Amino acid sequence: MPQSYSVKYPPSAVVDFVIVGSGAAGGVLAKELSVAGFAVVVLEKGPRLRPEQFAHDEYRYLFQNEIGFKTPVTWREHAKQVATPASFNDGMRGIWAAQVVGGSSVHFTANFWRFRPVDFDERSRLGAIPGASLADWPISYDDLEPYYTKVDWEVGVSGAAGGWGEPRRSRPYPVPPLPVKSAGVLFERAAKKLGWHPFPAPMAILSRPHNGRGACQSCGFCMGYGCEFGAKSSTLASMIPIAERTGRCEVRANCHVRKVELDAKGRATGVIYFDAQGKEQLQRARAVVLACNGAETPRLLLMSKNKHFPQGLANSSGMVGKHLMFNGGAIVPGLYEHPLNEYKGVQVTRIALDWYDSDAKRGFYGGGGLDARADLTLPIFWGLAGGAPGQRNWGSDYKAFLAHNFTRQMSVMGHTTSLPVESNTITLDPTLTDAHGLPAIRVTYRDHEDDLKMTRFMQERAREIHVAAGAKQVVDFPVGVSTSAAHLLGTCRMGNDPKSSVVDRFHRTHDVRNLFICDGSSLVTSGRGQPTMTIMALAFRAGEHLAAFARRGEI
Ligand SMILES: Cc1cc2nc3c(=O)[nH]c(=O)nc-3n(C[C@H](O)[C@H](O)[C@H](O)COP(=O)(O)OP(=O)(O)OC[C@H]3O[C@@H](n4cnc5c(N)ncnc54)[C@H](O)[C@@H]3O)c2cc1C
Ligand code: SF4
Repeated sequence: MPQSYSVKYPPSAVVDFVIVGSGAAGGVLAKELSVAGFAVVVLEKGPRLRPEQFAHDEYRYLFQNEIGFKTPVTWREHAKQVATPASFNDGMRGIWAAQVVGGSSVHFTANFWRFRPVDFDERSRLGAIPGASLADWPISYDDLEPYYTKVDWEVGVSGAAGGWGEPRRSRPYPVPPLPVKSAGVLFERAAKKLGWHPFPAPMAILSRPHNGRGACQSCGFCMGYGCEFGAKSSTLASMIPIAERTGRCEVRANCHVRKVELDAKGRATGVIYFDAQGKEQLQRARAVVLACNGAETPRLLLMSKNKHFPQGLANSSGMVGKHLMFNGGAIVPGLYEHPLNEYKGVQVTRIALDWYDSDAKRGFYGGGGLDARADLTLPIFWGLAGGAPGQRNWGSDYKAFLAHNFTRQMSVMGHTTSLPVESNTITLDPTLTDAHGLPAIRVTYRDHEDDLKMTRFMQERAREIHVAAGAKQVVDFPVGVSTSAAHLLGTCRMGNDPKSSVVDRFHRTHDVRNLFICDGSSLVTSGRGQPTMTIMALAFRAGEHLAAFARRGEI
């Protein structure tokens, strides 16, 4: 399997930037910095897959975790508990992320909502929320808008401008919305009946050819899979090829970074990693950029502790790993009389964001949005989880139920806020280790009560959609505390105050002048469910600033 596709820097080279992680943020940064003329090495611990290597194989991808997260994870609700191992492919607990070139942008669902102005200054608008550390961002929606537009056009987003409550946008979408599916038709009809304002879902999936890439072929193996057509706008399909074509960016796959190195003056000099053969190497660079995601970036900082930073690198504030946020989610399946055939195509074609803003009349903090999709699009998951709670899930009756209903099901999903809570953390597990002997990730997480109330609120709205759409049966699962996560946010939050944040408004760590962090960990608030559009917009913005710093000799 090829390890790199373009320039190869000799081991002795001091490059301008070494970027750790090639996912949603890392891929954008690689493109921005190499196009700006800098020598860039990207170290990615996962393999690099060619489009034809993406398999339509539910067992290998969702149960054997072929492209998934390999770092062992332990999980607990609060610091007094002993965390126990939690693996996503063993009971859907733990962390769901990808470990491949392109990161989780390769296998994600591609719902691509921009954050709205309220997400950036909600602390000022609402005041403090007891039990949470809600804070304003040091940047506004207007600061980020040009970079959202770059994501739309450069990465590739389909949609229709003018959706309900849409904030200012400087350009329309580059390609129109994806064709509406049955779930979208039912959702739209029901939502309008209820007086709500559904609109075409913005998706990071091309509905038409754009930037030399082809359109979606509606294969249906989308959420959890890579797109062999290049229609899903992963950084592997959209950004990394451009970076490599500059002749200045080398993407080294199967390279696991274990430490950021500092010199005696406290400057980052490079990173130590295990190469594809498991041999330890040092990549030197003028500046180090971490883009490993909201779980792996704090892990790497905590593993990089040294005499200057005994609590973990860039952690003088003590904030590294804190304020972990996931986004809440209510899933309400429904069964319909006629076939919907939702197993085909992309997951989502219509959404409604009528509950985006927090509303004091509800009596709790939070906001969210709804979509409709076949959550259980594939046969093994459908067989294991297709029934209602308490339904006998074996025998000929169950088989007949599955056979009849596979084509007749859709779920309405509510996506919601997570409050930043200081005791929700990523730390290093004291006993469990990975294949290199490095500490496992320990998640400590209990949803804020308002997050659970907001999820229940959205569950009720989802049920209303099903009823208005004429569902024959609606299934209510109890809303409980989170035991798994695919959105990993907030653990190295951005802020002006070095005492309460890890990076500044330009993604420079407050503690180390030439160490930058940009990925899900930079987020100050969680948005209402779909963070990756914002992660990529931040990466475009960070890329521009890092390039300017480098040109001015400020790294
Ligand atoms: C199934 C699924 C569906 C999703 N659907 C949506 C959606 O519809 N909308 C949405 O907005 N978001 C969605 N997400 C979330 C989205 O994928 C993430 O928010 C986004 O990819 C995070 O970007 P990132 O740059 O922070 O990290 P990632 O994209 O996870 O990239 C981090 C990269 O760093 C690498 N890495 C980590 N540590 C090291 C190390 N020490 N050395 C070398 N490399 C390292 C990892 O292997 C990975 O490739 C989904 C996630 C999953 C799992
Ligand atoms: S449904 Fe479309 S975007 Fe998704 S993997 Fe298939 S072809 Fe690609």
